[in-house]
Amino acid sequence: VAEAYQELAARLQDYWSLGKIEAILEWDMQTQMPEGGSNARARHIELLAKLSHQHFTSAETGRLLDAAAGETQNADPTSDEFNLVRVARRDYDKARKVPTELVMEMSRITTLAHSIWAKARTDNDFKSFAPTLEKIIELKTRIAECLGYTDHIYDAMLDEYEPGLKTADVASMFETLREDLVPLVKAITARAEAVNDSVLHQDFDETKQREFSEMVVKQFGYDFGRGRQDRAVHPFETSFSRDDVRITTRFHPKWLNPAMFGTFHEAGHAMYEQGVGEKLEGNILCSGVSLGIHESQSRLWENIIGRSYGFWEYYFPKLQSVFPAQLGNIDLETFYRAVNKVSPSFIRVEADEATYNLHIMMRFELESDLLAGKIKVMELPDAWNAKSQAYLGITPDTDTVGVLQDVHWSAGLYGYFPTYSIGTILSAALFDKAVEQCPNIPAEIKQGKFDTLLNWLRTNIHQHGRKFDPKDLIQRATGQPLQSRSYMNYLKTKYSAIYGLS
Ligand code: ZN
Repeated sequence: VAEAYQELAARLQDYWSLGKIEAILEWDMQTQMPEGGSNARARHIELLAKLSHQHFTSAETGRLLDAAAGETQNADPTSDEFNLVRVARRDYDKARKVPTELVMEMSRITTLAHSIWAKARTDNDFKSFAPTLEKIIELKTRIAECLGYTDHIYDAMLDEYEPGLKTADVASMFETLREDLVPLVKAITARAEAVNDSVLHQDFDETKQREFSEMVVKQFGYDFGRGRQDRAVHPFETSFSRDDVRITTRFHPKWLNPAMFGTFHEAGHAMYEQGVGEKLEGNILCSGVSLGIHESQSRLWENIIGRSYGFWEYYFPKLQSVFPAQLGNIDLETFYRAVNKVSPSFIRVEADEATYNLHIMMRFELESDLLAGKIKVMELPDAWNAKSQAYLGITPDTDTVGVLQDVHWSAGLYGYFPTYSIGTILSAALFDKAVEQCPNIPAEIKQGKFDTLLNWLRTNIHQHGRKFDPKDLIQRATGQPLQSRSYMNYLKTKYSAIYGLS
């Protein structure tokens, strides 16, 4: 077997391990660490980031990449070896384009920006955040210029999270969606009183919430022998290996949704990581390929399964026995409608399935305009409110629940939002394809059985890790490029029934 390839693989394994050690420190920081540990932790993480960047971008990695490319050039283009070299080459070329000093400056500014943004949000004071935001956009622009792009500066940012995705792709995706989504939400809003979700707002014991959610995700196929759940302020999933994939959640004592649907969501991410092929363990292909594909997995389990009638036919009686005082006298139909209530609201993370993509659409338009210099930072609050009125039919009365609500822009995460919509759209396309190939899936869901669906996802998505680019993976799994038809059909069918639309 090829010598340089083996040496490269070993070198990349060390690089991968350094990243995973960093992830353990970050997991600990968000779940266990006392407040006093934060300065020392920042130093530890910065050191690891430096070591891993130096190790990866060294001339030695470059030499091995060249030699290994020679050795694998005639290999099967779908083989692990061929793709490991291909992906490593792309990551390497990108990593070397951005000077370390610029990366470090960005990291410093965004760390400082977090508290400035948080205070501005609390105080409803956009002006105090504006200079920092301007600085971040300036640095982000410099990074994008280093990385290079052909059509739109925003392309360089999208590529960080969704390799190969272009601004024009996202614009046309939203154009198609907007045509159907805006009238659908209007029609539902006109019949808002048809659904009452007060049943979800009662006292729900935290331990019981946790036990029920964990029982469900175990039956989905999340392996607690290779995972665990902890509490965090902002729920997330992280993995240190395909055999150690963690999820986190938060509880609301008077609202059932956040912990329950949040756990379903994070478990969807986690099952993706646990399902990466065993052969890929420990190398740079051993993770989900992009944020969009990742989000397709979390949304599929959270919404397409977790908010479906068939699912609750099986699980509602179980939930009733966990909360007899709260739910004992409620019928399945009422509960199903409650968990699917649609109501335009200011806050993205609390949005329902129908309005969610409208929140993303306005963020995409605003951030791509900002980076292209079409709007200035100081014009952002007004631009935000105008879009909110146009798409959601409501204008936020403060910037706190408007332009300041999300952490992303203060963290330098531009090009991140569209991946949420890609995932949502893809979740429906994947589910349609899975049911087309395995028609017994809906009947199994009604019996609390998910192995046929999980196996389909394992075979078509999970096992490949980062081996294929997102566009190829979507084509291979669904037989066509990403399309929003499945998703719009899903929404129209489901919500026409719930809201009695014609
Ligand atoms: Zn997610």
